[in-house]
Amino acid sequence: MCSPQESGMTALSARMLTRSRSLRPGARPRGCGEEPAPLRRGEAAAEARKSHSPVKRARKAQRLHVSYEGSDSEKGEGAEPLKVPVWEPQDWQQQLVNIRAMRNKKDAPVDHLGVEHCYDSSAPPKVRRYQVLLSLMLSSQTKDQVTAGAMQRLRARGLTVDSILQTDDATLGKLIYPVGFWRIKVKYIKQTSAILQQRYGGDIPASVAELVALPGVGPKMAHLAMAVAWGSVSGIAVDTHVHRIANRLRWTKKATKSPEETRVALEEWLPRELWHEINGLLVGFGQQTCLPVRPRCQACLNQALCPAAQGL
Ligand code: SF4
Repeated sequence: MCSPQESGMTALSARMLTRSRSLRPGARPRGCGEEPAPLRRGEAAAEARKSHSPVKRARKAQRLHVSYEGSDSEKGEGAEPLKVPVWEPQDWQQQLVNIRAMRNKKDAPVDHLGVEHCYDSSAPPKVRRYQVLLSLMLSSQTKDQVTAGAMQRLRARGLTVDSILQTDDATLGKLIYPVGFWRIKVKYIKQTSAILQQRYGGDIPASVAELVALPGVGPKMAHLAMAVAWGSVSGIAVDTHVHRIANRLRWTKKATKSPEETRVALEEWLPRELWHEINGLLVGFGQQTCLPVRPRCQACLNQALCPAAQGL
């Protein structure tokens, strides 16, 4: 059983506000990792999105003629980096403070059964990283409790790339059942494990691009794997909870239709130092208060600030 002791790799209407943001390129993301130390820092796969590139922002700034931009002649060496106004949702900082307050007990399923709690902390680093990736693959369309149970059964037999490759599909299916889409996950786990053995020496790749190229691994899993397994924040991990809540709170400039679209919209304005926190915070909030159906708005500290509260 995944125990708390095994946790380790861890770790703000329509009105337009402006916030100055540095354009200094090459800023590194804040890492997170194993407590007390991450598995391994470095190789932070900062996925510099094209829309976030300094070149594009500079062009945008030129079009906007931001009032505080100085002319080239006014800029000397050591001048402040170019700044542009960034759209932010109204009241997001207070909404975030309220969500943190509602989540201060850390007693949602994700807090004790999430990916950071399902690997064997005594295993060698690359085995831990493999277990992190496997638990993420199992977790899609699956409750945390079910994922944790499957991980417990897998770990009881020794969960490594080799052990999975030596397990026949029928047995693997029985071990991971009843995780969502367990049949196709058996296939993806086998395929991904074979690739990891052949190309990565049994370890998992350390970039989002390589992770999403693995069968059954999507963007949310890749960003969580980068954070939990490699201690590197590469992007916001957006699942169905984060997607739903971001839209209810109007944290996206316009309504988004998919978690990936929501990720892009959030990364355009949410300060990078909050990227790692936001997943666990909103997932637990979505599990306990902002439920998919009949959200508990009467008990929500954001009721007066939530654009969606009246319509639900
Ligand atoms: S008021 Fe209701 S819909 Fe809005 S964030 Fe709170 S629980 Fe969710």
